[in-house]
Amino acid sequence: MELLDGRSLANELTQAQQMAVTQLKQQGIIPKLVVIMVGTDPASTIYTKNKQKRAAKIGIASELKQLPDETTATDLLALIHQLNEDATVDGILVQLPLPKQINEDQIIQAIDPQKDVDGFSPVNIGKLWLNEPGLVACTPNGIMQLLAAYNIDIAGKNVVIVGRSNIVGRPLAALMLNANATVTIAHSHTVALKALTKTADILIVAIGRARFFGVDDVKKGAVVVDVGINRLEDGSVTGDVDFEALKTHVSAMTPVPRGVGPMTITMLMAQTIEIAKGRAKRG
Ligand code: NDP
Repeated sequence: MELLDGRSLANELTQAQQMAVTQLKQQGIIPKLVVIMVGTDPASTIYTKNKQKRAAKIGIASELKQLPDETTATDLLALIHQLNEDATVDGILVQLPLPKQINEDQIIQAIDPQKDVDGFSPVNIGKLWLNEPGLVACTPNGIMQLLAAYNIDIAGKNVVIVGRSNIVGRPLAALMLNANATVTIAHSHTVALKALTKTADILIVAIGRARFFGVDDVKKGAVVVDVGINRLEDGSVTGDVDFEALKTHVSAMTPVPRGVGPMTITMLMAQTIEIAKGRAKRG
């Protein structure tokens, strides 16, 4: 089995990104990412810190706008409008989830689609489904880059994606379709799920259930991408597939951790740099 090593690819890409940022700085452009976080959700705090850390490592200027729990939609919208207008800001990211009083859709729609580094705005999602260039959700984008780096053919393949969230399954389905795969999206209402997963040449699972898929659910020689992150009682982290059991059964597979996860932040940085390059071109 070939290990689809997201961490080592992410490390390589990070080095290339450091060089790209150095070149931009020579042209007087400092790529800038602004992360907005409302409240103090512990998981969001960790994700946000990791993003800040990675940006600093690459040389991207990153700013964290930490807003109190009781922030109103009006206040948040005002901040987003201000950042949309700020020519020095390349990427704007609103850390989800938001507190209950704020409608997430309304907030995401307010972000300038050209600064929407998470690729969640309706404009970018529309472009993705039209197979037009735009900003793409980072986790699915990272999966495509990982498969490309390991020369995994996608055109004509039977791809089954389990999970239909807006951040993973749906955008990934569009990317796979754009790459000429035959795509099936499964979810909690899917009948005979495991008979379906067994038909996949490339199986991507993103449901958040520890070791849910085993040898009997996967075709021999398939490529498996495990997006799931599940914390076990002993504190360790595992994916949605039984990695140990599948090791001798599949042709290639991502580990958890060190598979898809490291690629997600890497794509966030990549898109911030791309936007900044556009700014450099415009002069
Ligand atoms: P969501 O909870 O938003 O979506 C889960 C999806 O899985 C839903 O579509 C749901 O179906 C489906 N599902 C749940 N249980 C089953 C089941 N028993 N059979 C079939 N389908 C099922 O999760 P996310 O997409 O946000 O995340 C999924 C997993 O990926 C999590 O473990 C998360 O931590 C991880 N993740 C990892 C990232 C990374 O960078 N590595 C990034 C983002 C997420 P339905 O729609 O019918 O409810």
